[in-house]
Amino acid sequence: MKFVFLGPPGAGKGTLAVRMTELLNAPHVSTGNIFREAIAAANPLGLKVKAIIDAGKLVDDGTTIQLVRERLTQSDVKDSYILDGFPRTIAQAEALAGFSNIDRVINFDAPDDVVIERLSGRLVCRKCGFNWHKTFNPPEKSGVCDKCGGEIYTREDDKAEAVKKRLDVYREQTAPLIEYYRKKDLMIDIDARPDVDSIVENLKKLLRL
Ligand code: ADP
Ligand code: ZN
Repeated sequence: MKFVFLGPPGAGKGTLAVRMTELLNAPHVSTGNIFREAIAAANPLGLKVKAIIDAGKLVDDGTTIQLVRERLTQSDVKDSYILDGFPRTIAQAEALAGFSNIDRVINFDAPDDVVIERLSGRLVCRKCGFNWHKTFNPPEKSGVCDKCGGEIYTREDDKAEAVKKRLDVYREQTAPLIEYYRKKDLMIDIDARPDVDSIVENLKKLLRL
């Protein structure tokens, strides 16, 4: 099955996608991760998108659509995938419909105060990408990832100014996708406020896994 994970920044789409990828037997495709890898590698794509992402704005549709279109030609995602962070605009959704047939959209629903609290405390491992949180899930030793020993940092776009911008962008450009997919009858809504394990259990029930 081909899934799109939709929701505001900080709703936990990425964390849930990592948890669900095995259960659904569907590879995790995250545009945010692809962009961050390009930035870390300082390749042409990374150089082009770094300032945009750090400011909490969206990368242009042309670049993003091209990237996903190419990724979805690979054999591992021929029959199934979880798209996390794409589409984020109506134009992206329409382009996607032209080159792939999605089966389900999961809408992760969480209010602003919850996502702001999550994003402002988020800590990311530079090496394995695991998401820690200053209060909800701190690593044993400050600054070091318990899972891999990697260095832990705060994403530039998790700083207050950029978080505010990302929420504005979400409301203006991404939230209209909720109606768009609801009309197509593809939508499953999930409450993204509980802890990760509870959300996984709820999703399993909803998807009859
Ligand atoms: P989050 O869901 O926590 O906001 P992501 O890791 O999905 O973060 O994305 C980080 C940033 O990467 C976004 O704020 C945006 O700048 C860029 N990005 C990711 N996906 C897209 C997309 N589909 N279209 C445009 N920009 C994107
Ligand atoms: Zn790590």
